Amino acid sequence: MAAPSSKEKATMAVEAAAAAAEGPGRRRRSGVEMLVSQDTSASPPQCPHGPTLLFVKVSQGKEEARRFYACSACRDRKDCNFFQWEDEKLSEARLAAREIYNRRCQPPLSHMQYVKRYWKFIELPLSQRKFCQTCQQLLLPDDWGKHFDHRVLCDVSIAQLRRPSELLHPLENKKTNAQYLFTKRSCQFLLDLICTLGFRKVLCVGTPRLHELIRLKASGDKESDVKSLLLDIDFRYSQFYMEDSFCHYNMFNHHFFNGKAAFETCRKFLQEDKGVGLILVADPPFGGLVEPLAVTFRKFMDMWREDQSPDNNSKELPVFWIFPYFFESRILQFFPSFSMLDYQVDYDNHTLYKHGKTGRKQSPVRIFTNIPPNKIILPAEEGYRFCTMCQRYVSLENQHCEICNLCTSKDGRRWKHCFLCKKCVKPSWIHCSICNYCALPNHSCAGAKDGCFICGEADHKRTTCPNSSAPKRANKAVRKQKPKKRNKMKMETTKGQSMNHATVRRKKKKKRRGHQYPCS
Ligand code: SAH
Ligand code: ZN
Ligand code: ZN
Ligand code: ZN
Ligand code: ZN
Repeated sequence: MAAPSSKEKATMAVEAAAAAAEGPGRRRRSGVEMLVSQDTSASPPQCPHGPTLLFVKVSQGKEEARRFYACSACRDRKDCNFFQWEDEKLSEARLAAREIYNRRCQPPLSHMQYVKRYWKFIELPLSQRKFCQTCQQLLLPDDWGKHFDHRVLCDVSIAQLRRPSELLHPLENKKTNAQYLFTKRSCQFLLDLICTLGFRKVLCVGTPRLHELIRLKASGDKESDVKSLLLDIDFRYSQFYMEDSFCHYNMFNHHFFNGKAAFETCRKFLQEDKGVGLILVADPPFGGLVEPLAVTFRKFMDMWREDQSPDNNSKELPVFWIFPYFFESRILQFFPSFSMLDYQVDYDNHTLYKHGKTGRKQSPVRIFTNIPPNKIILPAEEGYRFCTMCQRYVSLENQHCEICNLCTSKDGRRWKHCFLCKKCVKPSWIHCSICNYCALPNHSCAGAKDGCFICGEADHKRTTCPNSSAPKRANKAVRKQKPKKRNKMKMETTKGQSMNHATVRRKKKKKRRGHQYPCS
């Protein structure tokens, strides 16, 4: 079979993310791993990516009794194969071996050592400044020998050093395009918006290109100095940023790889100047679980609030959480004060996640925020317009529905109202009298017979299952979705450190459904 093109891979990533967002109710009934609420007092064991998370397997609609710990960051066992039963007792020898292994998996140098190398590097004359593209590493003259047969970039300028996201290649393994960098358009839009709204400090969580743009702007224009701190699992950035502007960090378990010192850097950043003018901007991998991310963002919110004056107590740390639109209901479950903006965020190395006008498809990625949407002006030159009824900017095709009394489109296309469903639906959907809801014309009505994910009964779905208590359900998320057989896909992530926007690859080439847009 021919390897899928990058375009196909991108399409499949969207499908997988959309499938994950649907929740387990629409998926197969067995073999799914669910995240268990992490409120146990026991401290979880550690993998190379910090504290692990507790999961449970579900088969035949029943939770298996034994729960287990697995890596928070890597959704593929190939990338981190940590596994431990919750009730498993490990021998001293095995614990010691694990600790050694975890240490061995850390970057070869400490952040401080990388910083020292950086200072030496910029003192070198241009002709001696080399970057090894094979090892993704700045080279000092002593290292040249070891890299003589590698791909080496010479004459690395200061301007290049200031744009590490262009110097480093986006993290990917051979099969996967994993790190998705903002286009100039999207990155500039975000920064302009941040400045217009009056923010002076940005906590960049998984947004290296935004961090870079902020610093470039700050160095050129002292007047509108915006500060930024980058938290990212990609430790290659330690080579370019000092300890006060980058922390090697895992956003799925709020783990700082450099321990207390890095945590303090972050706390100080959140709390200095009483947290005034600060915003958190995060662009997590789309394959990631919503719940651990929500827990992490909640921690930042609490840390920020700690130092607020009492009269400011009702205020929430402003957040931009960048994520696909089909996660809207999941995100709102955790953050009811958030709303989704119509702005389409797009990416350089993603052929499908492109802006409506230029790309073939429209990007499904949106901004979720607790800033009132009427304060956020979307660019008219890209077709966005203000809806006075909804009091927010909407995309060109998003029509205000008189019946719903909302601009109802989520994907940027014009949606139509279905009187039987009593809501607006995608333009490609028709009302199915067997399923009793709207779906694609060629959907299989069997889907309706799948029934409940928890108990297997046919007359209801997981969300209304009488056999499961609501709080319990709200505390769960799906770790690995096994997609339907006819659509066999495989989740993949990059190796080791970096669990990124999960991408999927089909094992066998099968006939695709009608067209590729997520959930259409
Ligand atoms: N659009 C952003 C990049 C988003 S890609 C930009 O252009 O700046 C997702 C980012 O999250 C990557 O930088 C990746 O290294 C980081 N990341 C992936 N998994 C992570 C984790 N577990 N913890 C912290 N960062 C992570
Ligand atoms: Zn791990
Ligand atoms: Zn409207
Ligand atoms: Zn409607
Ligand atoms: Zn309908």
